[in-house]
Amino acid sequence: MGVELTVTANDVLNLSSSEQRIEVKQANQQKGNNQQSSPNTPNTVTASRIWKIEDSEALYRIEGWGQPYFSINAAGHVTVSPKGDHGGSLDLFELVQALKQRNVGLPLLIRFSDILEDRIERLNACFAKAIARYNYSGVYRGVFPVKCNQQRHLIEDLVRFGKPHQFGLEAGSKPELMIALALLDTPGALLICNGYKDKEYIETAMLAQKLGQTPIIVLEQIEEVDLVIKVSQQLGIKPIVGVRAKLSTQGMGRWGASSGDRAKFGLTIPEIINVIDQFRDANLLDSFQLLHFHVGSQISAINVIKDAIQEASRIYVELGLLGANMKYLDVGGGLAVDYDGSQTNFYASKNYNMQNYANDIVAELQDACAENNLSVPTLISESGRAIASHQSVLIFDILSVSEVNSIPPELPEEGDSQLISYLWETCQLINQENYQELYHDAAQFKEEAISRFNLGILSIRERAKAEQLYWACCQKVLDITRKQEYVPDELEDLEKIMASIYYINLSVFQSAPDCWAINQLFPIMPIHRLDEEPNRRAILADLTCDSDGKIDSFIDLRDVKSILELHSLQAGQPYYLGMFLNGAYQEIMGNLHNLFGDTNAVHIQLTPKGYKIKHIVKGDTMDEVLVYVQYDTEDMIERIRQRCERALEEKQISLTESQKLLQTYEKSLSKYTYLCS
Ligand SMILES: *Cc1c(COP(=O)(O)O)cnc(C)c1O
Repeated sequence: MGVELTVTANDVLNLSSSEQRIEVKQANQQKGNNQQSSPNTPNTVTASRIWKIEDSEALYRIEGWGQPYFSINAAGHVTVSPKGDHGGSLDLFELVQALKQRNVGLPLLIRFSDILEDRIERLNACFAKAIARYNYSGVYRGVFPVKCNQQRHLIEDLVRFGKPHQFGLEAGSKPELMIALALLDTPGALLICNGYKDKEYIETAMLAQKLGQTPIIVLEQIEEVDLVIKVSQQLGIKPIVGVRAKLSTQGMGRWGASSGDRAKFGLTIPEIINVIDQFRDANLLDSFQLLHFHVGSQISAINVIKDAIQEASRIYVELGLLGANMKYLDVGGGLAVDYDGSQTNFYASKNYNMQNYANDIVAELQDACAENNLSVPTLISESGRAIASHQSVLIFDILSVSEVNSIPPELPEEGDSQLISYLWETCQLINQENYQELYHDAAQFKEEAISRFNLGILSIRERAKAEQLYWACCQKVLDITRKQEYVPDELEDLEKIMASIYYINLSVFQSAPDCWAINQLFPIMPIHRLDEEPNRRAILADLTCDSDGKIDSFIDLRDVKSILELHSLQAGQPYYLGMFLNGAYQEIMGNLHNLFGDTNAVHIQLTPKGYKIKHIVKGDTMDEVLVYVQYDTEDMIERIRQRCERALEEKQISLTESQKLLQTYEKSLSKYTYLCS
């Protein structure tokens, strides 16, 4: 603390006589009254030089996570290159405007089918390259795990785009098996049957062979072994069967528990040996052809993948030596997405690329099989996240903004409590040297103001002043700490406390459930005004009445940041944000919290002349979500009508008013659950 400063919260709050207080105050006035109060603007980011598009690129890290699909054009809008490096792009902001003119309102999910195609091409190209590089004599036959995004339009596109590569599907449940059976019509493509199975599931899967499909039944539970053998004997069909092994290689992070001895799924090594014996006894050993493992999703570190492949290759070889008819190795999912663009083993990133991934798998199997004179397997991967994430972008608008009012009130007035003066003075005195201590003083003064208010000693106007002065102190401290490299731990939260709150026309629970449930990070940024410096620091609050319905962690180069830099709203102008890379898992896991339903979705395809809207899938209306929770909307309208009648009889409502109420009520039911902008 600077020598000049004599008042601290402790001094003041411990004072008992008013005399002493006056002394302190006088001492302060002599020292503090000449200082000018700094202009306390709302939570702005100071403008220093002309802002360039490159600055936005760096700030939002779009190159890191967006390449080759997303970038910024000269107009300061986000552009989409759905075909990746193959050329052609469109302006995302203009696309949203055009869709709004077609009455497709926000929030809006835009799916770029070309991106989906590019992802499939890329994955197959990486394996093809690895196979060529290591002279691998087997092939790659990828499958898409349906659970990652079950939307019909997407699965239809995926099957079509995957045809040249005989790309198949993976089902993890009976309903997903139904989807896969109906939609997969690629000769030679694999249909991997995972998940819990009953007799019906197994019969359906085996009979699918007769339709020309190549179903592979993956045993995950020891109980399934008997069932498969029995059904096979009853139907007289020789199935292709595999096992899911519990590797001892432990995944990392969120899905780390997907592997290891106590994993939920899969068979231990003794159990696998047992399966082999049972199949041999049933004279079905040549059906036993596949080994599968899945170490979890979003594996950020390549060494975890390497370890898993090494262990799995050893098991694969040994199973062959035990007499199983080994032909396939299925490496499961886990291929990660670089959400923050940092290329590190941080949970929201990955420290390897798709080619490294394919190389490591191919090379390891090549070596393991060569050493044992076994022929190499057909390689299968079940990449979901890496295929489906990039293709969809969620666009939403800002409804309003709430900012901390940190403009200090004028000088304390005659009759204001001493506390107000102390706070005011504290605020004047905050500087580079004393900010940490004075911040605590201010906090204590504010606490004291609130307790005095509760005791009836402080008026509500005085309390308002005290709060405002406290915010002004925080702002001054924040202005100082922002310029410093080192921020004391206790002040780290200040940025978050002082952040503007941007209210978004979205339900996090419906559209980005993983943000809420598992703190997943998705890149979020404005899709326009990127040639302007964003002068606000904000957190996002959604439409639900749930305090969890917010986003306050954002991607950053190091770790995460608690605020997002945004532009101040302009009167009469919309402000659109995009949430990117959210095409995997989010849609189906989204829920109807507060009865906000599915958002509108459109499918966009690039054409030589621009783009075409292939499908518009309208989001849920209010009557649709109400039916889902067992309401009968006709009945609801009827109840309101009867109430109106009663009110009319009792002359509590006029005829015009009752008509207006009924009309609005009825009309609303058929509308979008989100706010119209
Ligand atoms: C979820 C899952 C996948 C997909 O994982 P990603 O990390 O999204 O690629 C693949 N296989 C199995 C068995 C799964 O449970």
